[in-house]
Amino acid sequence: MSRWILVLNAGSSSLKFALVNGTTAEESFSGLAECLGAGDARVTFHSEHGNQTLPISDGAMETAISMMMEKLPLDRHPVAIGHRVVHGGERFRQAVLIDDDVLAGIDVCSSLAPLHNPANLQGIAAARRLFPDLPQVAVFDTAFHSGLPEKAYHYAIPIELYDKFGVRRYGFHGTSHHYVAMQAADILHRSFNETQVISAHLGNGCSVTAVKSGQSIDTSMGMTPLEGVVMGTRSGDVDPGIIFWLAEQQAMSVEEIGDLLNKKSGLLGLSTLSNDMRTLEEASANGHQGAQLAIDVFCYRLAKTISALTVGLDRLDALIFTGGIGENSRLIRQTVTDQLALLNLFSDPDKNANNGDNTKGHIERDGSVPILVIPTDEEYMIASQTLALI
Ligand code: ADP
Repeated sequence: MSRWILVLNAGSSSLKFALVNGTTAEESFSGLAECLGAGDARVTFHSEHGNQTLPISDGAMETAISMMMEKLPLDRHPVAIGHRVVHGGERFRQAVLIDDDVLAGIDVCSSLAPLHNPANLQGIAAARRLFPDLPQVAVFDTAFHSGLPEKAYHYAIPIELYDKFGVRRYGFHGTSHHYVAMQAADILHRSFNETQVISAHLGNGCSVTAVKSGQSIDTSMGMTPLEGVVMGTRSGDVDPGIIFWLAEQQAMSVEEIGDLLNKKSGLLGLSTLSNDMRTLEEASANGHQGAQLAIDVFCYRLAKTISALTVGLDRLDALIFTGGIGENSRLIRQTVTDQLALLNLFSDPDKNANNGDNTKGHIERDGSVPILVIPTDEEYMIASQTLALI
């Protein structure tokens, strides 16, 4: 049987796709449709023959998927489609084969993730129409965190909000944390079930997770991806009192406050320059004070969260860095670990400068707890979980 899985990640105005071998992790074809719903919607394909960008005439996601179908390599027909779904609520604790009942369940979770789940559902609906014969699987960003203990997932607010509506912490980036924690166990020659690590996924969104006995036992994101560490445009943790202050003293609407905390805060809000870490590193090297402030707050809060997440562990076998920033930024890794000496974490400047490339990911100094740089591969995780279900 062919092992090729088409992996789809549908967002509100974008669609990422990749054709991935669910056994070997080989990726033969991938791409991105952007600006969906707008006049300049376009789709870019990456394959062994190079890159190609085409306009999407009606801007629709379904058109993007059908354009992609025509480009799929003929000798690598997918046997199934794996969809990334952001919120699985309390119902979906692992990947599932999609049927009408599952779709209804994902729709119920939309109230918890109104920015994400409806777009995921739209992608699934389009793929089901275009590939009616292929099994389709939903892989949830929350699933790896579904075993969080009660003391880690409850907010200290009236319990009926949990009982009636499921207001609790769920956590996200689960597929990435799961993948890098398994890779770390391999690198450390330990069984995954006996490995205790903290992983920091630092991309545009950022989160930190403590992994013990093969499960996430605590994580920095909450009911929504807004909680936790500083991100590109999201604030991470703030005093909820600020929200009342903005409403009462600045007469801001709920929508405006949501926009401020989700899209105008984080690295962008602090620096007034950019949400992109590369830009901020360059600017701070050239004396931009806002960029320096954004980097300082980002790293301090990240170190603080890493430290806090150790409370559920008996020991720390490794700290993992992943995501665009975690995999590439020596400055951020160094600045974060410089503030974690109490946890016996010390990075080696030379190994760190190479992103751990020559050391199987290790960037720690002799005598330190291992610090690992591990490139994440969410597409492969989705493909392998999809393959396992069909
Ligand atoms: P997403 O969460 O959208 O998948 P990525 O994981 O690609 O995002 O991460 C994007 C972030 O990674 C951006 O802030 C980008 O500036 C940062 N990044 C990528 N390469 C580097 C680098 N060499 N140095 C510093 N930051 C980097």
